[in-house]
Amino acid sequence: MIRIGQGYDIHRFTAGRPLVLGGYELKEAAKGLHGHSDADALVHAVIDAILGALALGDIGNWFPDTDDQWRGASGKQLLDAVLTAIRISGWRIVNVDSTVVTQSPKLAPHIWAIRDSLSKLLDVDISLVSVKAKTKEGLDAVGAGEALEAQAVVLLEK
Ligand SMILES: [Zn+2]
Repeated sequence: MIRIGQGYDIHRFTAGRPLVLGGYELKEAAKGLHGHSDADALVHAVIDAILGALALGDIGNWFPDTDDQWRGASGKQLLDAVLTAIRISGWRIVNVDSTVVTQSPKLAPHIWAIRDSLSKLLDVDISLVSVKAKTKEGLDAVGAGEALEAQAVVLLEK
């Protein structure tokens, strides 16, 4: 049996925070993302894709920010909880494809490191994890450098 899922996330940029994507910190980034904990939009999109593949709701249902257990949880902690749940029911990740949309910083020099980090969080080979980078050509809030978007699709099988 195979299932496909799609996920999307957006976070506003804010000064004084690290920029973390796929669990990898882009140390020279001037701004990070607003949100609780690491605000890792790429991991959040992947989580929603996994949950979507199994019609299990979304990251907001699973980890409400009103729940003390998950308040301030890192992307890795949330992903670990979801992976544990899907593995119990026999599912495994076939592959992940994702796109990060941001005007800055330039992600191209970091793509391998982001893929490497994300594949380790997912506990799969890096060849199964794709991360692509796009800009918004200066259009809308993402193009103005005010926010970062991430999209992901995930294929699961059991
Ligand atoms: Zn998010």
